[in-house]
Amino acid sequence: MPILRITKHGERVLKTPCPRVRYDELAPELPGLLRDMWATMNAARGVGLAAPQIGLDLRLAVIDVRPQGKSSRLVLINPEILSADGDQTDEEGCLSIPGVYAKLKRAARVRVRALDADGKPWEMTGEGLLARAFQHEIDHLDGKLYVDRLPFEQRLKVLDVIKDAKVHWP
Ligand SMILES: [Zn+2]
Repeated sequence: MPILRITKHGERVLKTPCPRVRYDELAPELPGLLRDMWATMNAARGVGLAAPQIGLDLRLAVIDVRPQGKSSRLVLINPEILSADGDQTDEEGCLSIPGVYAKLKRAARVRVRALDADGKPWEMTGEGLLARAFQHEIDHLDGKLYVDRLPFEQRLKVLDVIKDAKVHWP
């Protein structure tokens, strides 16, 4: 179970919208790929990881926000947001921007449809941290990072922090 290098802010793969996965084509590689993604996410103590973060342009992400402290793994293949409502403002971070956090407004409740690891469709409504993770990971698949969503002045400040932090990134 290799732990993969996580791509960082400024790398092209993080800015590129990912094409949809053709499930049947990916299926043979998927179990190994998911094992590596879970291992990489856990080693970095993240609650989600998207394929571009390991250098792959695939509409694929994994999320585990550990509700009530228990693991609850979700595989999102070709995820879509069906509806979003309410708002929540909380601190957000990203494994591709280590050591940097910023408060960001997101929808409070989000309904998502995706395929699971077996290619079966699922739908779920997430609230709070799970809703935030859904939006954050699906943004990755659209070539967006959370800092791209900050209001202009705040984004400039955070980009300054990122510039300094980058010196220490692996
Ligand atoms: Zn991220």
